[in-house]
Amino acid sequence: MDCIFCDIVNRKGEAEILFENDLVMAFLDIRPVNYGHTLVIPKKHFTNFLELPPEYLEELGKVTQLISGAIQAGLKADGFNVIINNGAAAGQTVYHFHFHIIPRFSSDFNYRPKFKVYADGSMKEFAEIIRNAVTKKG
Ligand code: 5GP
Ligand code: ZN
Repeated sequence: MDCIFCDIVNRKGEAEILFENDLVMAFLDIRPVNYGHTLVIPKKHFTNFLELPPEYLEELGKVTQLISGAIQAGLKADGFNVIINNGAAAGQTVYHFHFHIIPRFSSDFNYRPKFKVYADGSMKEFAEIIRNAVTKKG
């Protein structure tokens, strides 16, 4: 299977690696939204968020928090975004799970979707659909 992120883990592909341990690696995104934009990945190949087993979820969360703090302090960022693009519709282009950490600076740029307004009663309907789906899984 061809995967650029597996290549980076196996040192077949180059990257500016910031951190790694047994389970997780963090490296700079080659096409940053802001300088210092970082990706945090499991070293084992999982396609997306829903596939991650608990031990990877926990370690990815810890390392993403650690690197986010380092980015904020080191780059003197005013804030940061932590983002997962899950599936093509959400903008995923590399199908090896990754968190994006994007350093943010006051008034660097503004991206906001056009917000929707729930029609009367439909908020309850959406909540009900999702609650039922949670119950079936949980
Ligand atoms: P996605 O769109 O899947 O959420 O994010 C994939 C990210 O991987 C993109 O931001 C892209 O710039 C980054 N990327 C793609 N190929 C490479 C690569 O070979 N090396 C590094 N460091 N980043 C990459
Ligand atoms: Zn991979």
